Amino acid sequence: MPDKSRDPAALVLLKKAEREGIEVAWDRYRLQQPQCGFGLLGVCCRNCNMGPCRVDPFGEGPQKGVCGADGDTMVARNLLRAIAAGAAAHSDHGRDVAETLLGAATGKAPDYRIRDEAKLRRLAAEFGIKPDGETPAGLAREVAEQALDEFGTRKGFLHLINRAPAKRRALWDKLGITPRGIDREVVEAMHRTHMGVDNDPASLILHGLRVGLSDGWGGSILATELSDILFGTPVPVRGRANLGVLKEDAVNIVVHGHEPILSEMIVQAAQDPELVQYARSLGASGINLAGMCCTGNEILMRHGVPAAGNFLQQELAIVTGAVEAMVVDVQCIMPSLPQVASCYHTKIISTSPKARFPGALHIPFSEEHALATAARIVKEAVDNFPNRKEDRLLIPHEATDYVAGFSTEAILAALGGTLNPLLDIIKAGTIKGIVALVGCNNPRVPQDVGHVTIARKLIAEDVLVVETGCAAIASAKAGLLLPEAAELAGKGLAGVCRALGIPPVLHMGSCVDISRILTVAAAIANALGVDISDLPVAGVAPEWMSEKAVSIGAYVVASGVFTVLGTVPPVLGSRAVTDILTRAAQNLVGACFAVEEDPVKAADLILAHIASQRARLGI
Ligand code: SF4
Ligand code: SF4
Repeated sequence: MPDKSRDPAALVLLKKAEREGIEVAWDRYRLQQPQCGFGLLGVCCRNCNMGPCRVDPFGEGPQKGVCGADGDTMVARNLLRAIAAGAAAHSDHGRDVAETLLGAATGKAPDYRIRDEAKLRRLAAEFGIKPDGETPAGLAREVAEQALDEFGTRKGFLHLINRAPAKRRALWDKLGITPRGIDREVVEAMHRTHMGVDNDPASLILHGLRVGLSDGWGGSILATELSDILFGTPVPVRGRANLGVLKEDAVNIVVHGHEPILSEMIVQAAQDPELVQYARSLGASGINLAGMCCTGNEILMRHGVPAAGNFLQQELAIVTGAVEAMVVDVQCIMPSLPQVASCYHTKIISTSPKARFPGALHIPFSEEHALATAARIVKEAVDNFPNRKEDRLLIPHEATDYVAGFSTEAILAALGGTLNPLLDIIKAGTIKGIVALVGCNNPRVPQDVGHVTIARKLIAEDVLVVETGCAAIASAKAGLLLPEAAELAGKGLAGVCRALGIPPVLHMGSCVDISRILTVAAAIANALGVDISDLPVAGVAPEWMSEKAVSIGAYVVASGVFTVLGTVPPVLGSRAVTDILTRAAQNLVGACFAVEEDPVKAADLILAHIASQRARLGI
């Protein structure tokens, strides 16, 4: 079992699942072994109906598909399609938030309001909108319309790339990868990878970088900024993480997925005195809300709502037998959930028109009737409380305190309103560098081991770690998001953490909030008058699995950040593609990928990179 997870709560529930004959992701992963070698190498194609085709990586069988595409073309096309899918997912999330902002501004989404007017005004100025004399609603309408224009913009480029250093933007222009419109880049990716269009691996990968940039500096950054305007910009907040946050005596509702539009309303509805009273009338002590995956991150960042766990814990939450309802919207929701739930009393409630789950109860969520729908969902959960089977109940004890909510604004506030103190301590070597540790869980590697091992090793070497997504939840569970974790840090970083009262690992939000990390990196580079690729920074995704992570990797590297992947991407079937990603990209965009499955060696690679960046900067 320890080869499955480092988390004691997960191990307890994996044993329970085994006893009760419940199949979970780790079991299905085992049943998939050996996984298809062609797929693992990326050398298969089913982009037209002359196929499917595959090339023999040993050079003995066919080397070309029916149309003549070789392994390099197949690998590059598959990679570009993965980037496009990931960028589409993040960006469609951003579009939904923009539409909700528009609804809030025009009265069509009456349950939402503007919570960060200062940020609204700052974003309006970035879009070139004059705020004079405008009401918040009027300004929000113009900002939302401008944001929606970014998806199909014909103006030539995305507005928020202007946050990137001038040198970086000039490089993107020179390479022809400045993103023009979010939807346009995704559509062009699908066009280029259609049979008989772009066959050149370098050309396909360059467009992949452009698609990724349209996500990082387009869809994701809009999702973050507009969510802050609607729901409030996060500030440091305390909470608890892991499956021990579920309560034996309360109605437990787990919200899972990605978009805060739904979860924010569920947070409100779960506090409704009438619904709380109804839960009490059925013998519960109250209503206990917990988050999972990035929905969890959104509401823990803004409200301190407990996080029940990260990606590989979604089925295990149901295995506790204590969850009355798991409410889902989009992304990272395992199709297995209704099957697992059918073995307990849990209701899976789907809400998005984009994501239906056979076997789930579907309650369509719309911004027009947001709070009323959320109340209906919460009532469904309360109704289900009497159906709980006490003899199937097992809630692990594990729940760890965390401090989250380190938005860019919160980091600036901790620094006294300016980046200068941070620049000074980086120049002095008190903090050697900053590393973004991000991404998912993946049953290919023991849950959370990569995340926690790398974070601990980096902070011990005086590297500040910033995190999002399921990586951040792993650190929350491991106690690394507490100011007290400074004792695990090197002397320099520990001193900074104690002086500022911050943890050595900063939780910056959900996966779309990697845009916050881009904004900070760009601000540091601008303040120093250098490019992002000159900074002592790196990215690492030790347990990634999602196509969104592929898009993130594309925009992070294209923005100039060396990035280490802990699970091998399906590109090794092409020497040309592997070479572009791990070597040639360095000359093109000043950064490249490395792949290292051993987390200790991955941390060593990052530390060596930071040391060489510092030497190049002469600090
Ligand atoms: S596009 Fe070419 S390689 Fe792909 S399935 Fe069709 S014929 Fe085969
Ligand atoms: S980190 Fe990965 S698994 Fe977790 S919510 Fe984000 S994309 Fe999904």
